[in-house]
Amino acid sequence: MSDYVVGLTGGIGSGKSTVADLFAAKGIVVIDTDALAHELTAPDGAAMPALLAAFGPSIADVTGAMDRAAMRRLVFADATARARLEGILHPMIRRISDERCRLAASPYVILAVPLLVESGSYRERCDRIVAVDCPESRQIERVMVRSQLAEEEVRAIVSAQATRQQRLDIADDVVNNDGALTILYGQVDRLHLKYLSLSAEKAKAKC
Ligand code: ADP
Repeated sequence: MSDYVVGLTGGIGSGKSTVADLFAAKGIVVIDTDALAHELTAPDGAAMPALLAAFGPSIADVTGAMDRAAMRRLVFADATARARLEGILHPMIRRISDERCRLAASPYVILAVPLLVESGSYRERCDRIVAVDCPESRQIERVMVRSQLAEEEVRAIVSAQATRQQRLDIADDVVNNDGALTILYGQVDRLHLKYLSLSAEKAKAKC
């Protein structure tokens, strides 16, 4: 059971998943709210009945999963639809991530929340926040390689997210990812030791 939650955030392409994997390789449970959203909207996902009831069958693809492109188009054009979608998904993601944090069998948990700055409620659940940081130009470069999206499309996604400075402002710790992947290892090693010690202190204080 884990009672110490480290929120992990960063803009698209900053290297969040890469950093999360390094913590996971140390045996730390990682709970990713994006992955949870995918789980809930997969065929037979727990959110599908409510989504179908709210939006009708056109938002499901042939497999029964949420058709992400169709849903994106719908909520892009309609703020009420977006609010309805979030009203269904967010409380479910919140409930499941709380439960998994509680049940996690590691001294602390990494709760990866890409939009942590934007979604205020996650901040209060975290004992500490770590942001993965790099210049926007690097984010854009990496996402273009990963996704085949055009530069303008990636720029539009980046500018719809919180700014680099906003993320740095809420972070207790920062992982700098503006270089080779190898520069991450030492930083994650140091943070891991810090979180082991902070989580042990919290557990002791509770006794
Ligand atoms: P995020 O989860 O923040 O969107 P990822 O961890 O998926 O970012 O990284 C985006 C892409 O960039 C991935 O393909 C990843 O392998 C690559 N990447 C991440 N950090 C580096 C780095 N320091 N050097 C080179 N490639 C990197």
